[in-house]
Amino acid sequence: MTLSYGRQWINEDDIAEVVKVLRGDWLTMGPTVDAFEESLAEYAGVKHAVTFSSGTAALHGAMYAAGLGSGDFAATTALTFVATSNSVIYTGATPIFADIDDTFCMNPAEAERTIESHGGHVKAIIPVSFAGYPFEIEPFRKLADKYSAVLIEDASHAFGGDRGNHKIGFDADMTTLSFHPVKHITTAEGGAVLTNNDNYARRLRMFRNHGTTRNESEFVDEAPGPWHSEMQELGYNYRLSEVHCALGLSQMKRLDEFVARRREIAEMYFSQLAGVEGLTLPPEKSGHAWHLFIARVKDELHGEFFAYLRDNDIRLQVHYRPVPLQPYYRKKYGYKAGDFPQAEKYYRQAVSLPIYPLMTDDDVLRVCGVIKNFAWR
Ligand SMILES: *Cc1c(COP(=O)(O)O)cnc(C)c1O
Repeated sequence: MTLSYGRQWINEDDIAEVVKVLRGDWLTMGPTVDAFEESLAEYAGVKHAVTFSSGTAALHGAMYAAGLGSGDFAATTALTFVATSNSVIYTGATPIFADIDDTFCMNPAEAERTIESHGGHVKAIIPVSFAGYPFEIEPFRKLADKYSAVLIEDASHAFGGDRGNHKIGFDADMTTLSFHPVKHITTAEGGAVLTNNDNYARRLRMFRNHGTTRNESEFVDEAPGPWHSEMQELGYNYRLSEVHCALGLSQMKRLDEFVARRREIAEMYFSQLAGVEGLTLPPEKSGHAWHLFIARVKDELHGEFFAYLRDNDIRLQVHYRPVPLQPYYRKKYGYKAGDFPQAEKYYRQAVSLPIYPLMTDDDVLRVCGVIKNFAWR
C-alpha cells in the first residue's frame, strides 16, 4: 500500500453526523456552525471561533480584521505555505519576509531586521508554528508591541498542540486554523480564526458574509423593519456550510486522540531512525502537534532519496519552497536566490515523512526499514 505524507481519518460516526445534517433543515449558517464554533473555542480556551470556507479564507479574514490595506506591510516567514503571504496581498498590503531559525519557524531577530529595513512600518506580524512546532511567543509579542502591530499566528500545522501548559489558540491576537484533509481535523475544506478580541470577531463575521450585519447595535441607518440588514464593508462569501461543520464537530471528539497518535509516531521515528548516519531528525519540543515529520538529508542525496522512497511506495513531500522565491514573488517584489539562506538550505535537504493517525506501527516500521536500506554514503 502506498503511504503518503498525510491523510484524513473519517469514521462511521463522522459519516452519520454529516448524513444527519443532510436530512435536516439547515444546510448553511445554522445550529451546526454555531456548535462547531463553540467546540473550537472551548477546546482552545478562547472567547471566539469564526469558521471560514478554507484556511486561506480564514487568513484573509484575519488580515482584514487587522486592518491591512494598501500601503501597509505585514511580516511573515519565508518558509510557509503560500496562503500565509498571499492573504496579505489580497488586502492590497505587501508581505515582507524573514528567514527561519533552527526550529524551522520565523527567526524573531530576522523579523526585526526585515521590519527595520521597511522603516519600522509593519501592521501585522504572522509567524507560523511550522510542522506543529509551538514557537516561542514572547519575542514576537515584544516585536508586536514595539511596532504596534497585530500578532497573528498561522496555526494551520498546530491545532491540538500545546504552548506551555495550554492549548495553542490564544497566544497571538488572532490564531488561524485549516481543516484541509491533511491537517489535524478535517472538514474537507475549511478554516477558522480564534480570538479573544470582540471587535476582531465582529469584523471576521461580517467579512465572511459579504460585509453585512443583522446586528441592530451595529446599524448605521435606521431600521425600517425587522428585515433590515446592512452591508457596511466589502466582504466575501467565505461561509462554511452546515455539512462541513457537522464533519468538523464530529472530528473534534477525536482531536486529542489524533494528536496523541501523531506524537507516538514521531517517537517511533526518533527511536528507529536515531542511528541513521546521513539523516537529520527534526527539532523536538513538548507540545509539538506533529503535523509534519521533516527529516533532512545532504543536498547531494536529496533527489535520489526522494525518488528511492517513491520507488518503495512512500510518497514524500517537500514543505515548502521558500515563498519569496516562487516565480510570482520574485517577479512582483524582486526577491532572488540567496536572500533567505537558512530557508533555502532547509529546502535543499528537507523531506516530509508520512505521519497521520491512521498509520499503523507496521507502516512506520516499513518506512524506517526502507530508509535504513537506502544507499547512504
Ligand atoms: C494548510 C495551510 C493553510 C490553509 O490552507 P487551506 O488549504 O486554505 O485550508 C495556511 N497556512 C499553512 C501554513 C497551511 O499549511
